[in-house]
Amino acid sequence: MTESRKAPRARRLSGLHLLLTYECNYECEHCFVWGGPSQTGTMTLDTIERILEQARALGTIEWIYFEGGEAFLYYDTLVAGVRLARESGFRVGIVSNAYWATSEAEAEKQLQPFVGYIDDLSISSDAYHGCEDGVTCPDIARAAARKLGIPVDFISVAAPEAADVAGSAGKLPSGESAVLFRGRAAEKLASRVAAKPWEQFDRCPWEDLRAPQRVHVDPFGNLHVCQGISIGNLLQRPLPEIMRDYDADEHPIVGPLLAGGPAEIVRRYGLSHEDGYADHCHLCYEARRLLRERFPEVLTPDQMYGIRGQ
Ligand code: SF4
Repeated sequence: MTESRKAPRARRLSGLHLLLTYECNYECEHCFVWGGPSQTGTMTLDTIERILEQARALGTIEWIYFEGGEAFLYYDTLVAGVRLARESGFRVGIVSNAYWATSEAEAEKQLQPFVGYIDDLSISSDAYHGCEDGVTCPDIARAAARKLGIPVDFISVAAPEAADVAGSAGKLPSGESAVLFRGRAAEKLASRVAAKPWEQFDRCPWEDLRAPQRVHVDPFGNLHVCQGISIGNLLQRPLPEIMRDYDADEHPIVGPLLAGGPAEIVRRYGLSHEDGYADHCHLCYEARRLLRERFPEVLTPDQMYGIRGQ
């Protein structure tokens, strides 16, 4: 791969999503990152500072997102990190399940420190999320954000059965996305939809793996081109170096994905497999699980594969 082909990839990376913690107050069945109360791994403010410095050095990052797990569980770090990111010149967003919006007054109190510092608050609002005792925390959080002038939107994931509808006709209700059967969804939800022949999963439909526009970085520094597929570690090598040297075709997992999707991972490494899978991500995730011992630096960390981690 020549330098001239590599350079545009780094220029296009515009979003860095910080997984502030793998911990979450919920344990949703569709969660890509296996977030939950017993998960471990939380970013320190020092790590956030290092990441932001590297993001600045890369020169192409416009957006920094704070997500998880549930980022509000580490509220002081979140507030400090958001302010630091904003003061470093980035546009800033937060993704949250709004568990903290138990009343209008509480929601405004929680959001007040972010006024003028964030450009987007994305709230998970669907059948997987909610609050106890019938209180609709996402609605309360959205109203409070609007009152405070914080741009806000909902993220809604449809029931797993809707994946078949979306896959065949693309008729999910506006604003809803289909479940992708990776992470915990592969284990908990994939059996609820009809399996399709494994050979038909011959591409990655969702991520621009060759020239990613946004990547995720976790508390351990792993840079994920898709959750659980690392292309480097920011605490070991600076982001500009990782992006400069990223050769998608030579990457042991991304390479086969680009050549022929999840089905090609199975073929290339001679993996045993079922006849059918729920979707592309289901086959991709199951194939990767089988390859973790072979590519421990790439298929990491344990948290992304449902193992209570470091
Ligand atoms: S096919 Fe694999 S790489 Fe692509 S989005 Fe699904 S899990 Fe990620």
